[in-house]
Amino acid sequence: MSGRVLIADGSATNRIALRAILQAARYEVLIAETQEDALRLAARSRPIALLIASELAGGGLLARVSENPTTRDIPVIVLSAPGDAKMRLAALKAGADEVLSRPIHPRLLIARIRGVLRERQTASALAERQDTVRDLGFAEAPTQFGARAKVMLIAHDAASGNAWNEALTPFTRDCQLRIQTACDFGDASSDRDGDVYLIEADPDAPADSISLLADLRAGSTTRHACIVMIHAPGDPDTAAMALDVGANDVVDARVAPEELGVRIETQIANKRRGDALRNSVEEGLRLAMVDPLTGLFNRRYALTHANRLARESMPGRTLGVIVADIDRFKQVNDSFGHAAGDAVLREVGWRLSENVRGKDTVARIGGEEFLILLPDAEAQVVPAAAHRLCALIKETPIRLPDGRPPITVTISLGVALAVPGESVEAVIERADKALYDAKAAGRDTVTVSGQAA
Ligand code: GH3
Ligand code: MG
Ligand code: MG
Repeated sequence: MSGRVLIADGSATNRIALRAILQAARYEVLIAETQEDALRLAARSRPIALLIASELAGGGLLARVSENPTTRDIPVIVLSAPGDAKMRLAALKAGADEVLSRPIHPRLLIARIRGVLRERQTASALAERQDTVRDLGFAEAPTQFGARAKVMLIAHDAASGNAWNEALTPFTRDCQLRIQTACDFGDASSDRDGDVYLIEADPDAPADSISLLADLRAGSTTRHACIVMIHAPGDPDTAAMALDVGANDVVDARVAPEELGVRIETQIANKRRGDALRNSVEEGLRLAMVDPLTGLFNRRYALTHANRLARESMPGRTLGVIVADIDRFKQVNDSFGHAAGDAVLREVGWRLSENVRGKDTVARIGGEEFLILLPDAEAQVVPAAAHRLCALIKETPIRLPDGRPPITVTISLGVALAVPGESVEAVIERADKALYDAKAAGRDTVTVSGQAA
């Protein structure tokens, strides 16, 4: 079974036709003849989608479904009489996910159901990831909407591009509408920074338009854009194919410009919601990996990464581990204040990360303790690197905030080289012991761990 769909329609003929289409696509079908039945069934049996005849939708059912907390998450598709442009517009504005005009084309109906489910699932998957990031204790990135949304219409020729421009301009005042022909757009240098792409299918070569759609859906700069296919009048096959290939919406070229304007607004809102969620998830993941004071990786990331590096060492090379700790750091705080201590931590972290190879990792793993991972290192290179780092911290005094005179700070370092079969935890522990020896030896020095036990 593909899921349960509720049909709310007062006409027996319509119900029978719809039921046949849905059952052929292996949906389980529930039937309601009145508003009350529809609401009760929707709340009780939680269908994956609700198909409502426009007579019932206009009679208030649409509003009642979207106001009721138990039913408002169910996607709604309204089925309208042919050519009822006013009804279509009213239903979309009232929150219907989609409006289909009768006669219903079976393949298009099924593609539409899949389409609205996909939209809702993408939104809720992102929302869940955002909840996880929040559970990890990271705040959301602020939502900022910069410039006006960019809507790009790719017309199949210049004449129809002009016609669309004229028709749509009154209804797209809040966004930047740009018109191009498919031919110009195919040029590699064309802009690919649209929030919404409208593709006008070429009536003579709809397959070309479908493949343009597939390219946009897969393109690295366009894959999160919203895509609307404007298909040739009465071409439900192209419409269904476009939805299956990943169009967010499809419209018949005879669409009322005002309706297309409303659909564009919906796509812009979806795009912005998606962007905001993605940004907050990415920001949360970044925060989960990075130490906010120094901008270095944190302990959790460094240990996970070290395990991977140890597994993937090249033959004849090894993973070098350095643990570095600032000497008598407590005194820095006590003498100059906590803000000065923070400035020292930032500067030491920055110097360490600037003076290792690009593939090395520097992390802050404790208050004034740093871990440096040197993958694929030759054995003698790692102690040499540690001595270099030790010198470059001591040699240049560190500037303090508020223009106070710079202070000289030293670090002690413990070095260990992984031996085959040794766990990362064991190597780091040996480096830690070596660090302890360096402290005992008077600080500002490097100690190398002997062979693993
Ligand atoms: P040793 O040479 O033996 O390493 O001595 P130490 O003073 O560096 O070591 P100790 O462990 O006694 O003190 C570490 C200090 O680091 C204590 C703590 O207040 C300070 N510290 C830890 N995290 C931070 C931080 O984020 N900012 C500042 N300013 N200080 C921190
Ligand atoms: Mg210390
Ligand atoms: Mg310490």
